[in-house]
Amino acid sequence: MGMETGKHLKSVVTQACEKYENNRTYLMDILWEVQKKLGCVNGEAMELIADKLSSHRVTIEGLVSFYSFFSEEQKGKVVIRLCEDIIDRHAGMERIAKVFSEELGIEPGEVSADGNLSLEYAPCIGMSDQAPAVLVNEVVVTNLTTESTKAIAHSLKKDPDPSKLVQKTGDGNNANKLVNAMVLNHVRKKGEVLLNDEIPAEAGLTKALTKAPGDVIQEVQDSRLRGRGGAGFPTGKKWEFARETQAGQRFVICNADEGEPGTFKDRVLLTERAHLLFEGMTIAAYAAESKSGILYLRAEYEYLRPFLEEVLQERRKNGLLGKDIQGKKGFEFDIRIQLGAGAYICGEESALISSCEGLRGEPKKRPPFPVQKGYLGYPTIVDNVETFCCAARILDCGSQWFASIGTKESTGTKLLSVCGDCERPGTYEVPFGISIKDLLEMVGADDPAIVQVGGAAGEMIGRTAFHRTICFEDLSTAGAVMTFNSHRNVLKIIDYFLKFFIDESCGYCTPCRVGNVFLRERIQKIMRGLGEKTDLEYLKDLCNTIMKTSRCGLGQTSPRSVLGSIEHFPLVYSSLLKESDPYGLQAGFDIQSALEESRRIAKRTSMIYDPLYEEESEETIEALRD
Ligand code: SF4
Repeated sequence: MGMETGKHLKSVVTQACEKYENNRTYLMDILWEVQKKLGCVNGEAMELIADKLSSHRVTIEGLVSFYSFFSEEQKGKVVIRLCEDIIDRHAGMERIAKVFSEELGIEPGEVSADGNLSLEYAPCIGMSDQAPAVLVNEVVVTNLTTESTKAIAHSLKKDPDPSKLVQKTGDGNNANKLVNAMVLNHVRKKGEVLLNDEIPAEAGLTKALTKAPGDVIQEVQDSRLRGRGGAGFPTGKKWEFARETQAGQRFVICNADEGEPGTFKDRVLLTERAHLLFEGMTIAAYAAESKSGILYLRAEYEYLRPFLEEVLQERRKNGLLGKDIQGKKGFEFDIRIQLGAGAYICGEESALISSCEGLRGEPKKRPPFPVQKGYLGYPTIVDNVETFCCAARILDCGSQWFASIGTKESTGTKLLSVCGDCERPGTYEVPFGISIKDLLEMVGADDPAIVQVGGAAGEMIGRTAFHRTICFEDLSTAGAVMTFNSHRNVLKIIDYFLKFFIDESCGYCTPCRVGNVFLRERIQKIMRGLGEKTDLEYLKDLCNTIMKTSRCGLGQTSPRSVLGSIEHFPLVYSSLLKESDPYGLQAGFDIQSALEESRRIAKRTSMIYDPLYEEESEETIEALRD
């Protein structure tokens, strides 16, 4: 490295660390600053950061290798991220990737000779309703065609300035100059709770502040609101637990890290209901006596950040954040935005907290739960974007109003991100209890054969189950509903989901890290026509083992679509499976090569358990094999 380059690196790192007062908790922000200015966080930068923060290089390296938006290797000034979720693949992403490669002269994973452009894949950028789509740095480009891809490549080769790619902005706040995105909201159905155009500003907060904090919690409890992030924990209970835990301070965190392939409904809320979201967070802060909040924004939605910062600023100016909010003496609360860096697992609340603390996004052991010991060891409420928005509406319109919508155990409405083989992909606000059949009609799916409810981690169903309903009692979803027509291959879809989980597993526990690799091996064996009837039992046993023994939600849900496919598409399997080998030999499966593959793929090995990694793995692998 030349002297000038070395000086530049030193000044960039020093400025980044000083901006965050050399505070280790802000490591994510520091790494973002360095990554953006240098195009990488290389070894020298890591050493310097470690030195400034009184940390260790291995710790910094652990973060850089964990988050896909950070890189030790030099990236181009402009990074083109090709969304490779199953919907984008079906919409022609392979063709788009080929056009980019031909036009730019680089393959995914490479940097152009002039150092200006990088091409790589990203798991899901939250634009499945306008696929195929790419992220060019933070600029989103949607509905790509061969022609538009060529035009983008030419433009970037001439002038590597992604902002020039936005020719026409989308609807609503996508046209706001601080968003300036060609993204479309695609709001197809407005419901009465969230996408209603007549929501009065700050009505929920104003009413909440006339009540005692305990009564605010009671109102939320009476509404029977359940968390919209997937798990469906009663929101009022969560707030109560946080409030009851004795502590010097408490935190409120909004999980805006919807990374489930096929999910994009929080994108619409962040764009069109930002005030309502911050209002909900402020109500939670009042109820739990918290002074600090964090909006954890997924890196793929960075294009919304300037707009969201502006909304926060406006709220500070209008006395809706800061001291004595709305004239309520002693009620003080503010919110900062924490940008993620491309790790699906950070959607899990304890992993998200770790990320906010400047750590690898590895899920924490529970108990203690975040409401007892969360961010920096203090009680923390973590709720989803939609949940906070619902809470604000409940405080305005009352728990009875909210509880009168939906079903007994699933009150209110649900925002669904519908995508795939249908005429009208987009966001739908529907009351809980809607049947899949009715939803498919609404979205214009004329040949639906497979429906994946709840993203890759959700449940896969076929035609015989279209009478089932979306609610916590039956088919629960954080929002994603993917529809596939009869021309789609069930096993290819499953194969993609498993690849996704293998890539996104944090690597901490063996059932998840290795088990999903084994599942994928077996599915691929069946796809190649080498499957035997006994493979079905193997798959079911392995799915159950992974679900029961994995540490967090990722491993506990990753095999669900495999089980769903066995239950709902038995003919797909029976047409491919041979009678079992009478001697019990399974010619198509090689445990050693599966293991090798798992090691190669699972790049996110645990930093915590590294020394025990091989020993622990081999033991559990034996158990999994049996
Ligand atoms: Fe990590 Fe998977 Fe274990 Fe969750 S289940 S802690 S993602 S390895």
